Amino acid sequence: MSSHYIPEIGPARGQSTDEARRRLKQCGEAGLFRHAVAKEFGGLGDSFEELCRDHELLGKQTRDPGLVLAANAHIWGAVFPLLRFGSESQKRDFLPKLVSGEWIGGHAITEPQAGSDTQAMQASAVAVGDGFVLNGCKRYITNTPIADLLVVYAKYEGAISAFLVFHDDLGVSFADGPTVQGCATATMGDIDLSDCLIPSDRLLGKAGMGNIMIHLALELERAFIFSGIAGVMQWQLDEAVSFARTRQVKGSALSDYQAISHRIAEMKLRVETVRLWVAKCADHCDRNKRITVESAATKWYASEAFLSSSLDTVQVFGTRGLEGEHVALVQDAMAGRLFSGSTEIQKNIIAAMLGMGS
Ligand SMILES: Cc1cc2nc3c(=O)[nH]c(=O)nc-3n(C[C@H](O)[C@H](O)[C@H](O)COP(=O)(O)OP(=O)(O)OC[C@H]3O[C@@H](n4cnc5c(N)ncnc54)[C@H](O)[C@@H]3O)c2cc1C
Repeated sequence: MSSHYIPEIGPARGQSTDEARRRLKQCGEAGLFRHAVAKEFGGLGDSFEELCRDHELLGKQTRDPGLVLAANAHIWGAVFPLLRFGSESQKRDFLPKLVSGEWIGGHAITEPQAGSDTQAMQASAVAVGDGFVLNGCKRYITNTPIADLLVVYAKYEGAISAFLVFHDDLGVSFADGPTVQGCATATMGDIDLSDCLIPSDRLLGKAGMGNIMIHLALELERAFIFSGIAGVMQWQLDEAVSFARTRQVKGSALSDYQAISHRIAEMKLRVETVRLWVAKCADHCDRNKRITVESAATKWYASEAFLSSSLDTVQVFGTRGLEGEHVALVQDAMAGRLFSGSTEIQKNIIAAMLGMGS
């Protein structure tokens, strides 16, 4: 195994913002953000398959979907858009700092009035002199309170474009909140843009290409975020097996009851199926193939599977399951059905690729 991780074992619920940043930086220092990135930009020049191996290890050892989410928002929200659409100078100046974890990034698509419907976004960009002025509000953006650099999507001349915004740019505030209950170890917040002035070389990709860039970023995020979460699901399975074998009910191990052992068999099937879907996405990416349907299917299946297995784990543990970590994972799994596009949106994508829907 190529593994560089793991600097820290165990979840960190209730952590401070500083702690969240430190843990994410540790992921960077361990090489987690360098996978599938060319060596000239500080990457390992390796494959998506190798990326998946380290992500699963991260999930299994930290059992922290919030940390997995934060790492994936950084990678697919900032590193890969820069890699694919950045100018030579943007790549040279920004990528090494992002892949090393010195800088933390993410992407800002969602707004108070625009979630699944990205076209409804109202954030705007206007060209002035040798730059752009951005206005608007982004909401629920992972890593905002700890980010150095965010890829912010806004409408310029009626079409969505992408802009690189730094936390210390004039007229921007990266707020700490509002937050949500699921994946709470990932920091989250609003980005308030109030006549935020940025130089023209902060446009990422061509003007008007934002829609395509969002699709590509989310395709990758949907495909690979559940690689880390498969590690969490494996840990849930191991815990459920171990508990069911030792817990005695009416003179027998819990695992002797088929109602329990079948529940655990379903957990096994789910985690293995998640791995198969993620591996299919990795294989396609390693062969430079698009993964529109594959990543939507992975996100849909894996997020529902994670929720089912989280509920099953609590049930197998009985009331003990409600004491702490296992029930917290139910909330994390619920968040998993919503981030990177909800289950309904993944179904819409697959239906559209089959020529159905509006
Ligand atoms: C933990 C977490 C982290 C997040 N991180 C980020 C981030 O880093 N960057 C970012 O930009 N956003 C982020 N988000 C926001 C997330 O992408 C949006 O919340 C998500 O896209 C859904 O949008 P919404 O909440 O506005 O729901 P809405 O779009 O209002 O949808 C409400 C409900 O209606 C359903 N629905 C909507 N449209 C349709 C349709 N056409 N057909 C059928 N059903 C539909 C949805 O599935 C959902 O169940 C994050 C969210 C969470 C929970």
